[in-house]
Amino acid sequence: YIKTLNTDPLDVLVIGGCIVGAGLIRDLALNGDIKAGLIEQGDFACGTSGASSQLIHGGFRYIAKRDIALVKQSRKERETLTHIAPNLVKPIPLAILRYKGDPYPLAGIRLAAQYYNHLSKSDASEKAKLHIDTDKIQSKVGPISTDGLKGCVVLWDSIVDDARLTLATIKDAHLHGGVIANYVAFVEYVSIPNPPETMYRVLAKDCITDECFEICARKIVSTTGPWTDMLWQKDPSYNGQLRLEKKNAKGIHLILPRCTKVDPTDNYGIVALTQSEKQQNAKQRAIFILPGDDNTSIVGTTETTPEGDPKDVRPSADEVSYLLAEAKRLFPGMSLDQNSIIGTYAGIRPLIANNQTKLIGDSKNFVSREHLITESPSGILYVYGGKLTTHRLIAEETVDYIADFLSVPRQCKTARCPLPSANSDVIVPDEPKQADDGRIQSVEIDRERLIQRYGYIGYLSIQELVNRDASLADRMTDDHPFLKAEILYAFTGEMAITLDDVLWRRTRIGWTQGQGLDIAEQIVNFLSKNNNWSETRKLEEIERYKRHIEWLNQHL
Ligand SMILES: Cc1cc2nc3c(=O)[nH]c(=O)nc-3n(C[C@H](O)[C@H](O)[C@H](O)COP(=O)(O)OP(=O)(O)OC[C@H]3O[C@@H](n4cnc5c(N)ncnc54)[C@H](O)[C@@H]3O)c2cc1C
Repeated sequence: YIKTLNTDPLDVLVIGGCIVGAGLIRDLALNGDIKAGLIEQGDFACGTSGASSQLIHGGFRYIAKRDIALVKQSRKERETLTHIAPNLVKPIPLAILRYKGDPYPLAGIRLAAQYYNHLSKSDASEKAKLHIDTDKIQSKVGPISTDGLKGCVVLWDSIVDDARLTLATIKDAHLHGGVIANYVAFVEYVSIPNPPETMYRVLAKDCITDECFEICARKIVSTTGPWTDMLWQKDPSYNGQLRLEKKNAKGIHLILPRCTKVDPTDNYGIVALTQSEKQQNAKQRAIFILPGDDNTSIVGTTETTPEGDPKDVRPSADEVSYLLAEAKRLFPGMSLDQNSIIGTYAGIRPLIANNQTKLIGDSKNFVSREHLITESPSGILYVYGGKLTTHRLIAEETVDYIADFLSVPRQCKTARCPLPSANSDVIVPDEPKQADDGRIQSVEIDRERLIQRYGYIGYLSIQELVNRDASLADRMTDDHPFLKAEILYAFTGEMAITLDDVLWRRTRIGWTQGQGLDIAEQIVNFLSKNNNWSETRKLEEIERYKRHIEWLNQHL
């Protein structure tokens, strides 16, 4: 891909390969008539998009703020994402708990939830159920504290593995001709269009080999989220001032053993107002506990002012103890303590300030309250803000503008075409193909899981690997469901480059008990046989992964 990026001039170069960049290149590629490329300095979804709360949601709290248009927009996007990625975007019942002293009455919450459901076609007929019987609430959501519990209201949102959604979006863009490279960083502009020259020349760096090369494109778009200021500082029209007035917010999550009930049909998430005085506006902040993989719970989140380079974001001791205290309060019977914490992660929400009057020298701005698409005097587009939930819409608005600029026909197909991993039109055959020696059983056992995780096309690719080598149908270890073929597929089909890519984003083993340290050695040994990793590479990968986990866990 690097060679193609270097030799074939592009119409559009997208810088930043998380959800907004992924959504954008997918739209550009599906549109046709636009040759688009994307570079990501790390792995796909290594930024905020791999560290979110995993909800595809309408923003229930905006109902209280009467921002109905925003809620409607997000609810609609949720429906669209459910349609195009049904294997990834799953409905989840959320129990909004009300404890003594909480400001909103149950009847009011129910009314708002009813209205919230009503804003989404698929949930319109769904009644927002209200429960006041604490035994019944516990039987649904698990052993939550009944001390002062007044009741709960159940509404529906959706849950997604944010890294898998980003990867599926990237894969679709790639299938439709997008030229995409991870571990390639934007370094600087070599030149900008100066008629009759119509191209930007950008210097990029292959972060694996440290070699630099040039990319030419007619339009450059930054989708670098919290890194946007760094890109702006390299913009030839940078004038020493900040481009956007931002109010970025850092948020962390804890991964704990499953607190809520494990239920084969309805795995509830819970939302409760925080009781801690540590956070600003503590009474107004909500804490939620969502079901994670492998019998874990994801507890979030916080909101503090970030400092330093976004890549160095990690949970502080205060943030960890705040969330742990809240989880303990809500699940007093679980004897949670510092040792219960399986892992943590942190990200930075790219948020725009309400007041955008300080924008500098723009020729074109599209402003919503949540995202902003703006063009600098040198013609470079910056896409900023938004949510995981609204990434497709943000891309649609951006490509509308780009297609106009390039004078190419515009046809946005992203809301109609399913992601390749999720082609719901494909009928899954009952019987998977048998390998010669008949060792297909473990794939057959995992077929449903594989389809859910990788979609039907991904499943077929994994099956193909097993057909060639039946031993790949074995699990990597007994402690995790992942097959050897899946680990290999991360490299052959999903552009994984490092051990971290596999453990943290392709499989999420890093978010389960042991954080992947228990399986790292087996994986590198397997990769040395199957992916030609040398002894030195094996040691380096393990060391790097260990350092990453130690660094992240420093405050545990
Ligand atoms: C705690 C938290 C919880 C959240 N929960 C939710 C939720 O439940 N639902 C929801 O819808 N949204 C949620 N969000 C918001 C959502 O996660 C973000 O809005 C979204 O992920 C931002 O995506 P992005 O692509 O703009 O930025 P990022 O995901 O940060 O990606 C920017 C990318 O640009 C790359 N980059 C930077 N500089 C360069 C360079 N020089 N060259 C190449 N690449 C570069 C970075 O490496 C990075 O990968 C949450 C956010 C946080 C922080």
